[in-house]
Formats: sequence, C-alpha cells, structure tokens
Amino acid sequence: MPRVLIAGGSLGGLMAASLLARAGHEVVVLERTAGAMDSRGAGIVTHASLIAGLQRCGMPQGHELGVAIPGRVTLDGTGAVLGELPMPQVLTSWSRLYQLLHGLLLQLPAAQYRQGVAVQRVEQHAGGVRVQTSAGVFEGDLLLAADGIRSTVRHQFWPGVQPEYAGYVAWRGLCDEGVLSRGGREAVFERFGFCLPPGEQLIGYPVAGPGNRTEPGHRAWNFVWYRPAPAPQRLAELMTDADGEHHPQGISPNKVSWRAIAAMRSDARRLLAPAFAEIVEKCPQPFLQPIYDLYSSELASDRVALLGDAAFVARPHVGMGVTKAMHDALALESALAGADDVAAALRAYAQARLGPGQQVVQRGRRLGAYMQACGQDGNTAQPRDAAKVMAETAVEG
Ligand SMILES: Cc1cc2nc3c(=O)[nH]c(=O)nc-3n(C[C@H](O)[C@H](O)[C@H](O)COP(=O)(O)OP(=O)(O)OC[C@H]3O[C@@H](n4cnc5c(N)ncnc54)[C@H](O)[C@@H]3O)c2cc1C
Repeated sequence: MPRVLIAGGSLGGLMAASLLARAGHEVVVLERTAGAMDSRGAGIVTHASLIAGLQRCGMPQGHELGVAIPGRVTLDGTGAVLGELPMPQVLTSWSRLYQLLHGLLLQLPAAQYRQGVAVQRVEQHAGGVRVQTSAGVFEGDLLLAADGIRSTVRHQFWPGVQPEYAGYVAWRGLCDEGVLSRGGREAVFERFGFCLPPGEQLIGYPVAGPGNRTEPGHRAWNFVWYRPAPAPQRLAELMTDADGEHHPQGISPNKVSWRAIAAMRSDARRLLAPAFAEIVEKCPQPFLQPIYDLYSSELASDRVALLGDAAFVARPHVGMGVTKAMHDALALESALAGADDVAAALRAYAQARLGPGQQVVQRGRRLGAYMQACGQDGNTAQPRDAAKVMAETAVEG
C-alpha cells in the first residue's frame, strides 16, 4: 500500500486521510496551523452524498450533524414573504465537521496528524516524493495537496492557475438565538432564509450555537451577505483595517474595520427585511471574505494530486465546497485501491474529477451573474425570481 502524505489538515485533507487510512494506507497529514483549528469558519450546508461520505469516514449512524430545517423562505425589504419552498436540509458548521473528522482520524492507528508543519516544496523521483517542510523532510509514495485556495503545492506545479476575484464580497457572521426578538425568530430562524436587494443577496440558516449545542434556544443563525465591492478601490478599502493596514490575502475577523462594520449595519437597516437586519445588528463580530473562482485544467502530475479548494473553488452560492472535497476524497480512495502504479492511479483520479470540478465552478459563476445582473449600473428594474433563486442555491447539482 502506498504511503500517502497530505498537505493541509482542514476538511478536505481530513476526509481524504480518513478514507485512505481506513482502506489500509499509511497516511501522514501535514497541517501548517500550529494551534487550535476548531474556531474557524461558520455555516456549512450538507447534502446527501456528503452525509454518505462521512459515514464511510466512520461517522456513526444517527450522529447529529447539525440543525435540521424543513425549507426555505424569501423575505422582501419590508419583511413580506416573497416565496416559500419546502426543502428539508441539515445545516452544520465548519467546526462541528472538523471536530467529527479529526476525532475519527485520531482513532485510526495508520494515520498521523502533524500540526505546525508547512509544506514548502515537493520533489518527485522514480520511487516517490520528498516533501520539504518547515519541520524537516517527509518521504512518501505520493503527495495529496489539500492546502486550500492559495495552495503552495499548486503554485509549484501549476503557477498559472490563480484565484480570480468575482467582484463581490461575503459579509458573514453568527447571531445567538437567545438575543433575538420573538418576531425576528418566528419570521426566519427555523428556515433557510433569503433576501434579494438589487445586485445583492443575503442567505442564512440556523447552526449549532456556543458549545456546539443544537437544541432550541441555544442555536445561532449564520448569515452570508453578498455585496458588490469592485476591485481595486472598494475591495482594498474593505480589506484595510482601522489602523490603515491593508490585508490583501484576507482580513481576519478581528481586524475588519469598525467603520466598515458600522456602514454595513446601517445598510442592513435600509435594505434588508427587519428580521435579517436584527440578526446583522446583533451579530457580535461580522467578518468578510472576498469571493473567488479557482478553475484548474490539470489535477495530477505523476505522484502529486490536488483536491478540495486547492483544485477548484466554486462560489459559495452552490454550497458545494465540502461536498466537492468529499467527492474528490472518495475518487482518490477508489483510484488508489489496489494500485501498483501510483502515477496511473492519480491520472485516473484526475480524469474522474476534472469535469465535475469545472462544472461546479461554472454553476457558481452563473448564479453569481444572475445576482449581479439585477442592480448593476443602476439597473434595479429587473426583479429576481425568488422561487428560482431558492431552488438553485446550495443544492447538489
Ligand atoms: C462565504 C463562504 C461560504 C461557504 N459556504 C459553504 C457551504 O455552505 N457548504 C460548503 O460545502 N462549503 C462552503 N464553503 C466552502 C468550504 O468552506 C470549502 O470549500 C471547504 O472548507 C474546503 O476545504 P479544503 O480542506 O479543501 O481547504 P481549506 O479549508 O482552505 O484548508 C486548507 C488547509 O491547508 C492548510 N495549509 C495551507 N497551506 C499549507 C501548507 N503550505 N502546508 C501545510 N498546510 C497548509 C491550511 O492551514 C488549511 O488548514 C464556503 C466558503 C465561503 C468563502
């Protein structure tokens, strides 16, 4: 069985590591972050194939993954209902998935999870890979790059593949259920909510609250508000903290300028249904992420392969990032099963996953373009079809 090295120990790396270690491979995950990882990110929409994949990673039957909801609702700026759609779904969070997958991996004797190890450079030779890291050299039969949108490994092998800014950002945040008014809770809390101001879109749903609790009264509402931010000027302003320091690679939640937060909250009162404006107002620490596409034309080079966000990033309208990484991990498991020729197995993996990855990026672009079309250049006359938006957002395509 080949010895597998994995760069990146977030959800993509953990899913691949679990599946491969359970299949009998010796697996070493190399994660750059030294400290605790479980406070990152916010809500994640799950799909049936993700849940099936998690069970294959060892998630016990009946494990409570998150908060189950019955369907979706769109509210206009006054709070009136524009449309409803029954669509049961389970909403979870990055930290809940991370805790589950990390715990499952640590039970496997064939797996190691090494933190504080940054992959720097990879050399391939006839018998395997030699990976230079901040903590010395690791040898293996192959390297899987699950090191995210700014992948060091992808940059070494395919330097021309770069994230492309979509022209808008996502303001995100969590608001505890307990602080909301009864009216606000009843209007939206139990559902996947939508609001469609011109050229913008807010979505949100309930997730586990503090302490990962999912019982009513202790949950939180996760919102994602897509807003235009043309580059370079407006984007640079948002990525600059209150002390004037610019963070072009991503601004951490505690650095987002209080002036930008105050302006965003004021816009929320003007543009969003009151139930959503209340959530935005009472969220203690909104943060923001620019939205990117990442589109690859190759996924493997001999003994190195890309997976998860290192391979493709689709705009979060599709809600497929974690599910797509799971599909990559399952395809790797199947390609490497019983493989003597590692390079041929990784070619088979690339062939299986290139088309689906490209399609999901295109789908995210289409949904984003539809959002932007109404409102751009002052065109506010073209209303969006709430039923269409609800039916196409965060569904398994
Ligand atoms: C606004 C927004 C909303 C989203 N909503 C959803 C949703 O509802 N559903 C969904 O499925 N997905 C969603 N996503 C996407 C999802 O978060 C990602 O697709 C998913 O987490 C993919 O994870 P990954 O493991 O491939 O990459 P990442 O999570 O980026 O992990 C990369 C890891 O590699 C490590 N690393 C980086 N460089 C190195 C190095 N040189 N050496 C070692 N380690 C390294 C990093 O520290 C990190 O831990 C959303 C994304 C955004 C921005």
